[in-house]
Amino acid sequence: MNDLTPDATSTAQALFARAQKLDAADPLASYRSLFYGTDPATAANTQGMPIAYFDGNSLGRPALASFDRIEKFLRADWGTRLIRSWDEQWMELPLELGDALGAAALGAAPGQTFIGDSTSVLLYKLARAAVAPLSEDVERAKKAAHPIAAGRGGRTEIVVDSDNFPTDRYLLEGIAAERGMTLRWIDADTSAGVTPEQVAAALSEKTALVLLSHVAYRSGFMADGPGITKLVHDAGALILWDLSHSVGSVVVELDAWGADLAVGCGYKYLCGGPGSPAFGYVRADLQDTLEQPIQGWMGVADVFAMGPEYVAAAGIRRFITGTPPVIGMLALHDPIAMIAEVGIAAIRAKSIALTEFAIEVTDALLAPLGVTLATPREASQRGGHVTLNHPAMREVNAALWEVDVIPDYRDPHGLRIGLSPLTTSFTETHLGMLAVRDALLRLA
Ligand SMILES: *Cc1c(COP(=O)(O)O)cnc(C)c1O
Repeated sequence: MNDLTPDATSTAQALFARAQKLDAADPLASYRSLFYGTDPATAANTQGMPIAYFDGNSLGRPALASFDRIEKFLRADWGTRLIRSWDEQWMELPLELGDALGAAALGAAPGQTFIGDSTSVLLYKLARAAVAPLSEDVERAKKAAHPIAAGRGGRTEIVVDSDNFPTDRYLLEGIAAERGMTLRWIDADTSAGVTPEQVAAALSEKTALVLLSHVAYRSGFMADGPGITKLVHDAGALILWDLSHSVGSVVVELDAWGADLAVGCGYKYLCGGPGSPAFGYVRADLQDTLEQPIQGWMGVADVFAMGPEYVAAAGIRRFITGTPPVIGMLALHDPIAMIAEVGIAAIRAKSIALTEFAIEVTDALLAPLGVTLATPREASQRGGHVTLNHPAMREVNAALWEVDVIPDYRDPHGLRIGLSPLTTSFTETHLGMLAVRDALLRLA
């Protein structure tokens, strides 16, 4: 009963032909070979190399250039130059790489982006900074003469959605407890995301801060960045965007949106490697009005004065706490340079084409088996991954990992197909999704 009909077989063949055509016409196709494991020859000779890798949105592949870069770092920058490298390059690295990322992928003018701690720690630092000028600090905020900061007395609520990534929710619970504030929850649909209407309904004169993921980690839904930013500002509050699932796959225009704060992950589409540091963005005119909560020696005006008390540096440097994770930044350099070279618009175009193709395969081959789409069909509401729902997906995911097809599973019953624009091909997508169909035929 589960055997494929001749029709299904010819549909799969037609889709394969389309995948090949799409790869042949893909202007970004050559970038794939700049990443380890994508060359069929190496891949075939490497035990356990995925046949289809659908987790570039969770842990991106390493760039080939990172191998040489890390080797050179060990021998030359660390091994030979030793402590002299701090002066020669490392002190400025978090800001220089931040500016490069801001220009390539965030629509951020220089001086607003830095590479820092983990995503979780940076979310804490920026969210906590944003809610610091409460009523008792209002005089200081007024002195800072910033219209938003000055009007923030009495704002006691932080808005967040129930389906945001766990670390985002947990951090805000802690901050709310620390500051005596209240979390105001938006009840988000796990098969969609947060709408401007929901945000508007949650905002009031009590709102201090709104924290949202721009692309939802579960469904791949993309929120209305500029629209929601404006709503939040109209209510006199600040917005902190979590860009973990956006950066390097969709167009983000922080300056044009007027965004206040943003944080995003370095090891997903940015391919920085496991535990590579995250980035933070603080809009230029807010920087000197905010005080970050983890005051360390690297964020002061004169680092080597080693003075008696903390005097925050002017500008973005004040958001740095301690010694920057130089090793952790190594593998970020080349992917950021590639994004700059290709242009984020071309990356987004490929991302849309990949997710559209995945949806086409889903409709043709998986929908007849009871699979539904948790990701919006409308491209403008979709990030770089597609989530497929079926009650058997937990088992399907486990079976796929056995055969080196690597998507991931998220409750309630979603299989996430992450499609990384620089490293995923259409034929890889086709091959992996055929494996999804085969696993469903066996297990469902
Ligand atoms: C991946 C991700 C994180 C990761 O946080 P870490 O501190 O790197 O573990 C945070 N938020 C979102 C929305 C993510 O997708």
